[in-house]
Amino acid sequence: MKLDTEVIVVGSGFSGIGIGIALKKDKFDFLILEKAHTLGGTWRDNTYPGIAVDIASFTYSFSFAQNPDWSRVFAPGHELAEYARKLSVDYELEAHMHFGKTVESAVYNEKQKYWQVNLADGSQLTARFFITATGALTQPKLPQIPGWESFVGKVIHTARWDHTADLRNKRVGIIGTGATSVQLAPALAPITSHLTVFQRTPIWIFPKPDAEISHEIRELFKLFPVLQWFMRGISSSITEAVMVLGVIYNRQFPWLTKALEQICRNHLNSQVADASLRDKLTPDYGFGCKRPSFSNEYLKTFNHENVSLETNGIREVVKEGIITNSGELVELDIIIAATGFKVFEFGNLPPFEVAGRNELELGQFFEENRFQAYEGTSVPGFPNLFMMVGPYSAAGASWFQMIEVQTRHIMRCLNEARRRKMNEIEVSQIAHKKYFEDILQRQKNTVFYNSNCASANSYYFDKHGDAPFLRPMPYLESVLHSRFFNLNDYRYTS
Ligand code: NAP
Repeated sequence: MKLDTEVIVVGSGFSGIGIGIALKKDKFDFLILEKAHTLGGTWRDNTYPGIAVDIASFTYSFSFAQNPDWSRVFAPGHELAEYARKLSVDYELEAHMHFGKTVESAVYNEKQKYWQVNLADGSQLTARFFITATGALTQPKLPQIPGWESFVGKVIHTARWDHTADLRNKRVGIIGTGATSVQLAPALAPITSHLTVFQRTPIWIFPKPDAEISHEIRELFKLFPVLQWFMRGISSSITEAVMVLGVIYNRQFPWLTKALEQICRNHLNSQVADASLRDKLTPDYGFGCKRPSFSNEYLKTFNHENVSLETNGIREVVKEGIITNSGELVELDIIIAATGFKVFEFGNLPPFEVAGRNELELGQFFEENRFQAYEGTSVPGFPNLFMMVGPYSAAGASWFQMIEVQTRHIMRCLNEARRRKMNEIEVSQIAHKKYFEDILQRQKNTVFYNSNCASANSYYFDKHGDAPFLRPMPYLESVLHSRFFNLNDYRYTS
């Protein structure tokens, strides 16, 4: 049977771009399907005021395509979107990208060993291999609050920013205090007549070692790329040390998270004079249980007269605004939901139906058997399927490090199948089970199981009580795995 292509990738964010570059380099025939009308994933969708990276840009980029043009150590969001566009031009990916293609389901044909991908427009595409690069934080979640529909003002989710909305001199409420709100609140405070931030759980905030990168320094980076490698080395080593010692081996180094908490407390003390406000802004869960953030502006925003921190909880939304649990009505013109995304829940990983052997559905399999994937990418029963962002795949402190690890693993598999002239590759049950047992064992060392995480309300935990986001091993070890995993952990057939 003639297939439409050799490999179908879903998603044109940095994961899709990363695997696309590798497929191109190794001369695979492939398509990248994207439901939106342009590429860029998270950095296309998130355009709220104040958006920037919060891992230093020297680290938050591909190692093989470092960008000398970042304007700041922590680049603003639009520069990431431009970086994505530039990569697609430089690596000639545009011809492979098909926009406005929403995947509804994918079904494996066991007899003829290919994936049939069903699109929302009723058409189908077929490929030998199927790679999901659909991200993790892509499906915005609105809060479940009684009366939500009755509000007469404007409602905006941060991941779908409405650039036509005029917030100047308006009474604005932000629901949520995650990494998004940390960037958004300081950007809105100066323009709104009153800003109310509705906090359910406070967030640990580090000082942000940000600075402008001058034109002269950028020119130096272009002339001497080694300087960029040097900066990358420094920023990656610091973040990796915090990840490894503070998060992955928290059981062995519990003092480190305590020290990090103290840095955050000192930062808070230096930014907020009012002791009762400081109390409200201080988390009661351990550092690392949920995503901390970096900001030199967020905490001190609450010192402004026109900014309130509301911690009484939300009882309901009414047409005029929000009523708190203490019965007070906060009148609002605009409500902004900085309420995050679906993460490790049914319907997000994967974001569409994926039927493998014997019609086994991947989301259902995770739902019933816990999230798991060999090396964060493949699952027995799903031949020729690889996930860029699978359970326990977030290796290293930057998304790009994870992408490079996953890409290397997947490309070794595809090239091996090609070398053996086989058209089906499937991870063995034994290798998968051994790997998952190792992950569960390692997980016991992490901050998620050794710190006080009960009150964190963290999206790192799923309904099984697992924390399947982070790969609980040092980045270097993940790199070694991707380079040297036993290719015979997969079964090859023709
Ligand atoms: P988030 O971390 O999931 O935070 C959502 C916030 O909304 C939380 O404070 C949550 O409170 C609150 N919330 C949700 N439902 C609520 C309700 N019904 N009532 C009151 N509060 C409610 O989402 P996010 O801030 O968008 O960040 C998501 C992730 O995106 C980050 O962790 C990070 O990985 C990424 N991100 C990265 C950057 C960057 O690098 N530049 C920037 C922004 C975001 P609880 O905590 O109590 O649940």
